[in-house]
Amino acid sequence: MDNARIDIDRMVRRGEALSGRWPLAGFERLGTLLASSDGDVRWQASARRRARAEGGEDTYLGLALAASLPVPCVRCLGPVDIVVDDRREFLLVADEETAERLDDPESELEVIAADTPFRLAELVEDELILAIPPLPRHAACELPVDHGPEADGGPDGEPASHPFEALRKLRGGTDETGS
Ligand SMILES: [Zn+2]
Repeated sequence: MDNARIDIDRMVRRGEALSGRWPLAGFERLGTLLASSDGDVRWQASARRRARAEGGEDTYLGLALAASLPVPCVRCLGPVDIVVDDRREFLLVADEETAERLDDPESELEVIAADTPFRLAELVEDELILAIPPLPRHAACELPVDHGPEADGGPDGEPASHPFEALRKLRGGTDETGS
């Protein structure tokens, strides 16, 4: 993997952007989540410094990622392609402690610790892992579905046909014959 670690200071000084293409097979942690490690991730990284109002300056890393991740469907276990096409910006700070203190989950901007050299491959892997939904499944899975999306949503959020409704009626019937 070329540029698995990058020199952010040099990128800022030279105003250079880096880009590359890495095979998914090169990521060990991500690999455990994939149905197959065929394919690759295309990335582009850039860095800039911006003066702070109170003096000093902040360093930002821009990262664009494009990949298609084949993950197993939770219903049929066949591969579902999760398409990642993302660009985001990170504020780089001195250490993990500062990053945790400054990171605001409400904000689009992520705050991360800047190691020197910066471990770009690790960040790319983290971002790809975060892009995988907790319960990936085919939009139209081949396995039969118990209750489709048409079962949801009356105006007050009550399901149109509650899955337990039939059961409740059934049980009510038995109770009546019992009494
Ligand atoms: Zn499926």
